[in-house]
Amino acid sequence: MDAGRICEILNRLSEVYTEGAYPGRSSEGLNPEWPADPFHVLVATILSQRTKDDNTRRASDNLFNRFGTMEAIAAADPDEVADLIRPAGFPKQKSKAIVDCCGILLRDFGGEVPSETDVLTTLPMVGRKTAACVRSYAMGIPSVCVDTHVHRISNLMGLVSTRTPEETEFELMRITPEERWSDINRYLVRHGQVVCLPNRPRCGSCVVRDLCRRGTESGRDRRGHPNYS
Ligand code: SF4
Repeated sequence: MDAGRICEILNRLSEVYTEGAYPGRSSEGLNPEWPADPFHVLVATILSQRTKDDNTRRASDNLFNRFGTMEAIAAADPDEVADLIRPAGFPKQKSKAIVDCCGILLRDFGGEVPSETDVLTTLPMVGRKTAACVRSYAMGIPSVCVDTHVHRISNLMGLVSTRTPEETEFELMRITPEERWSDINRYLVRHGQVVCLPNRPRCGSCVVRDLCRRGTESGRDRRGHPNYS
């Protein structure tokens, strides 16, 4: 795998998706009304786990309208937080994680969100994907944030051959220039939402079809002739 192919894929997608993965937003489901600082992005990214952007947005709006600071959330009644974030699903689990997270950040980190992946991932419900999202979108640190779209499309394209998102993250970091790491999430997620849809990728309208293993394979009929349906 050459870095040139990945960079060309990202270049072409960046021309199509000029606003990146989350038009008008800094991170998954975070309303642009809220600052894209590490605290808000961290909470929104925890809320975004296993739900859709619209649900994350409603839950984070409810939460931040009622409790706008780390201190307020840390002191909040977890049951009230659970009610506020119910649109995002798993309310009790996410509420406990968010309230505990804010308490830990205040107690152990002086109210700052740490930037190191190994430290971030010690926080409740913060895995490598959430950590990478916070680093990339809120801190401007190059990071490969691998969600289901990035994992699926990277394998379809033949960029990687991996079984888990974590393997995908490490493989993409290995083969991609560091200055492009954050672009991977920014553009592949959008591509997965618009063209390379789960279960029915629209290869006929894909601008990177010639660079994609699945696209070039599906573009040929049984005799190996081009078939651009
Ligand atoms: S060619 Fe098809 S499978 Fe490949 S990235 Fe484009 S839409 Fe997805």
